[in-house]
Amino acid sequence: MTESAVVWFRRDLRVRDQPTFLAAADAAPCALALFVLDPALLGPSGAARRTYLFRSLRALDAALGGRLLVVRGDPADVVPRVAAGCGAATVHVAADFGPYGRRRDEAVEKSLADDGRALVRTGSPYAVAPGRVRKADGTPFRVYSPFRRAWTDHGWRGPADTDASTVRWLHPQAGDGIPDDDAVDAVLPEAGEEAALRRWHAFLDDGVQDYGSDRNRPDRDRTSRLSVHLKYGEIHPRTLLADLASRRSESAGTFRNEIAWREFYADVLLHRPDSARRNHDRAFDALPLASGAAARDRFAAWCAGRTGFPIVDAGMRQLRAQAWMHNRVRMIVASFLVKDLHLPWQWGARHFMGLLVDGDLASNQHGWQWTAGSGTDPAPYFRVFNPVTQGERFDPDGEYVRRFVPELRDVPGKAVHQPWRLPDGVPRGYPEPIVDHAAERQEALARYQQVTQAR
Ligand code: FAD
Repeated sequence: MTESAVVWFRRDLRVRDQPTFLAAADAAPCALALFVLDPALLGPSGAARRTYLFRSLRALDAALGGRLLVVRGDPADVVPRVAAGCGAATVHVAADFGPYGRRRDEAVEKSLADDGRALVRTGSPYAVAPGRVRKADGTPFRVYSPFRRAWTDHGWRGPADTDASTVRWLHPQAGDGIPDDDAVDAVLPEAGEEAALRRWHAFLDDGVQDYGSDRNRPDRDRTSRLSVHLKYGEIHPRTLLADLASRRSESAGTFRNEIAWREFYADVLLHRPDSARRNHDRAFDALPLASGAAARDRFAAWCAGRTGFPIVDAGMRQLRAQAWMHNRVRMIVASFLVKDLHLPWQWGARHFMGLLVDGDLASNQHGWQWTAGSGTDPAPYFRVFNPVTQGERFDPDGEYVRRFVPELRDVPGKAVHQPWRLPDGVPRGYPEPIVDHAAERQEALARYQQVTQAR
């Protein structure tokens, strides 16, 4: 045993179910709790995620009795300096599998090793670490359903029995402190482990039993809203899966399958880090895309929630109001951007990442590529969502649209999905549709021919 260790928090801002605590407690009698404010991550995060992170750090600091050291800088400089400062032989982390996280950790590991110290990885933000589940021939899965079956068969550990007292925490030297919140227009969910657990228990008590039937209904708003808590590791998927194990209902199984999507996309991104920016299916490089001033104007209308298609506009406005959007509506607005406006999915993905509080590179980029048809195991490109029928089906009384589009608040029932058909025309202040969906659908299919020819 050495004098001390460092626990470096990243996407695991909690004290319960923390295998890194057990590893640190094994390695040394006491440990320093560290978070590094890395400008390379903070910059592109967007104000909602930055502010949420700062709030979550405050909650973690409180749980650790005010002993979280927060330092700004490049982790490759900060972590070895802090480790040397407290005489730690080991720095404990949960492994990061994202493209940037892996590069960063390799750099930190190297600088620590130069100084005779070690980076120790224990666990990850996933029930099964990306890269573990493979086909019988050792290659990664490219299709979700067989991945999910193999992932289920692989199984996962139960939650680790930890809390703040598992480790004897050192009093840190003064650091840079947790920054003040950024100015954010959106109303953010409460941050921190306690809030995550409350949200999860409320969903277990009153939500999961109807998840199968309600999850596609943005008007009902009955999904778990755990994505942001999972993103920051305020709760671990292991905890969710363990609690679900006693529930045998079909709905609980559907919820578990959604957790598996998160794990699948992390696995795909590990094997194809290039797919964060480029088409996973490179034949889609041949898809002709809109460009020029007209394309930029249409993109601006989409971002502002002023396309004239109510379900699309409601989704884009929910994104601004809550830094979150319902999954069904994410698919609808994404389809609209790619197949009605013929814009690159990367534009939409970047806009989402700028605003989403749960913005996660693997789930976001692959959620986009799934809709665009260029992803692994995607929705077929020729299946073009009709924004009117999607609205009528999943928001049958128009409540979701009226909640987010005040110009349409007085339009009753499902008529809200086609305001251009109202006897008095489109209500004042709301735009006419910016495109003719039927014509753009044909256009999308014609453009898609270029992809099939490139195969
Ligand atoms: P629930 O329905 O309660 O699901 C529970 C959990 O399962 C979620 O919290 C999430 O961790 C996981 N999950 C559910 N659906 C998916 C899915 N399709 N892909 C991956 N994981 C899933 N999710 C993110 O966490 N971050 C993103 O940046 C993100 N971007 C997306 C972009 C697009 C275009 C699309 C179509 C989907 C995206 N998703 C993203 C997936 C999904 O929309 C959100 O996870 C979900 O809406 C979060 O709300 P919830 O926690 O109430 O979900």
